[in-house]
Amino acid sequence: MAPTARQRRRTLAVLAGILVLTLAVHWVYRAKTAEPPPVSREVAVFDSYARLTLWAAESRALPALDECSAELARIHLALNRFNPASEVSRLNATAAQEPFVCSPLLWDVLRQARQAYRQTDGAFDISVGPLMALWGFHRRRDTLPSDAEIAAALGRVGLGRVVFDDHDRSVRFTVKGMSLDFGGIAKGYALDRVMAILARHGIDQALVDLGGNVGCTEQPPPGRPHFVVGIRNPFAIKTLLDRLAVRGLAVATSGNYERRIVVQGKEIGHIVDPRTGRPVSGPSGVTAVTPRGVDSDVFSTAVYVAGPDLARRLVKAVPGTGFALVMGTADDYHIETVGTVPLLDGPPAAAAP
Ligand code: ADP
Ligand code: MG
Repeated sequence: MAPTARQRRRTLAVLAGILVLTLAVHWVYRAKTAEPPPVSREVAVFDSYARLTLWAAESRALPALDECSAELARIHLALNRFNPASEVSRLNATAAQEPFVCSPLLWDVLRQARQAYRQTDGAFDISVGPLMALWGFHRRRDTLPSDAEIAAALGRVGLGRVVFDDHDRSVRFTVKGMSLDFGGIAKGYALDRVMAILARHGIDQALVDLGGNVGCTEQPPPGRPHFVVGIRNPFAIKTLLDRLAVRGLAVATSGNYERRIVVQGKEIGHIVDPRTGRPVSGPSGVTAVTPRGVDSDVFSTAVYVAGPDLARRLVKAVPGTGFALVMGTADDYHIETVGTVPLLDGPPAAAAP
């Protein structure tokens, strides 16, 4: 018997209902599981490029990125020693004559730099300015410095020769010709500031690369177990030596392959030993993995200067810290790990001592 018009209408209504329900379920499901692509931005800062990648809705990500960009510009403006108008340039120009009163930002960086100096027994020392100048990092030179010149510069180096007044946030040099250089701490400091801004904006999935200083949130990107951060091969810098699986950590590398200059045919690395006054030729690269950005920056530079003994002390002093040191030569090198280093490709992570 052919269906009546009424029966047909009812069947159609049921089918339409099922269709609407299916679509609704599909939309709800999609809204819950669809991953919008990450929002990322590149910012020119610290003479390199910073890349911030946020897994968040644009409405939330964009204001956060604006605030991060402004903060990075503010930090760079205060700490850039190559800009004569920067706060650190004004400090360097006048602190030998009279105490220089610092902005809260500069004072905050100084506080952490002083702590780094103590923590590393002076291997990390922001007062290396005269040595950087002597070896030709401020102005090109054609000849290597003499022993007498090195000794003279060393007389103007040492955080112990700087008087800090915590009451009025002032700095005074006790010796003429001293100068502070934040090149080994600025990016790590900035990384912590950026991560704090992101957290304040409720962003809990982000990767921030401030040109070699990388930080990430505890929560990994959607659908992945962790963030992956590459360690460059210091002997073939276009290739990776290994990769790290990280969450809620900061990674920084110091190496002699970056920012080298050549004087009288000799290659000079941009990290100096404040105790000898000479450029360091220790490990080929040191990667530090640690919870705070400022520590990863400071520790990678300091361990580059002082070697594995300092690395072993630091992993005991700062929980969650690990180092990967690239030792040896281009023909024969190996990775030495100290503390916990979550290497993806290389030897299994060493247990913390
Ligand atoms: P990069 O700047 O390439 O990331 P680092 O974080 O290791 O590398 O910092 C190197 C910079 O730190 C140098 O360019 C210089 O400005 C400064 N510096 C060099 N030697 C020291 C040192 N012993 N202690 C503190 N800062 C240093
Ligand atoms: Mg560093």
